[in-house]
Amino acid sequence: MSVKDALTTYAENTWCPGCGNFGIFTAFKNAVKELENRGVKTSNILITAGIGCHGKIFDYLNLSGFYSLHGRAVATAQGMKLGNPDLYVVAFVGDGDAMGEGLEHVLFAAKRNADVTVIMHNNGVYGLTTGQFTPVSPKGFKGPSTPFGSVEEPLNPIKLVLEAHATFVARGYSAKIKELTNIFVEAILHKGFSFVDVLQPCVSFNDTYEVYNKNTFFVDRIGKTKDEAVELSTVSEKIPLGIFYKKDKPVYHELELEGKNLFTGSLTKEERVKRIKELLKI
Ligand code: SF4
Repeated sequence: MSVKDALTTYAENTWCPGCGNFGIFTAFKNAVKELENRGVKTSNILITAGIGCHGKIFDYLNLSGFYSLHGRAVATAQGMKLGNPDLYVVAFVGDGDAMGEGLEHVLFAAKRNADVTVIMHNNGVYGLTTGQFTPVSPKGFKGPSTPFGSVEEPLNPIKLVLEAHATFVARGYSAKIKELTNIFVEAILHKGFSFVDVLQPCVSFNDTYEVYNKNTFFVDRIGKTKDEAVELSTVSEKIPLGIFYKKDKPVYHELELEGKNLFTGSLTKEERVKRIKELLKI
């Protein structure tokens, strides 16, 4: 396979033809190019991903980063940011990955306003393992693990992260690439925890293209309060898309590290020993 552009690797792409992940991939690459125009060096963008179909984006994007474990991409992203706060860190997660296995990491990253961006590929199924229901699948969803329909109510990711004090919350759609690009740019530039719920059809196990093409619209404003953001994001006859909430607030690494950069400002061995002795009073 030939490299199509500088942001695409040589890895063979194994997403199913028509998968919504392609739209997220394209929008993200567009966002990286736009960020470069706005002064963000591409080499300063670091990525991580969980496990699932979404996680393959890590193999396809020609950017630096760490591959994480199932549900642990947000924890990994926070470590990367603390290691070098000068970097822009993006965690790609799946809906099962982030709302199931990794939910606690998402909520606590939001709670402490970790300055990382979380992009959730929300296809409503565990696609890589052939279509089991996830915590956000609608009640009645039929799949290999729920052949008679799920009896559980779905979680609402937007409400959850807002309740956990996320400072940037948005919903995009993988087929609306221009708008998704803009949302990614704003999310990455936001100083604080940014969460983008991306509606992503899975053509093999949960093909939602028709529903989303007919029933989505973009909101025309950003909520001033969390209550207003919830109201803006709430699905009724149609599914709202766009940025629902954005707020300035001190970020975790600045509060915790008091402006230090552990990577560029790392201490010498002698300085570390001196600090340890001071702490232990020896
Ligand atoms: Fe995409 Fe679904 Fe295929 Fe996975 S199984 S690559 S999510 S279409």
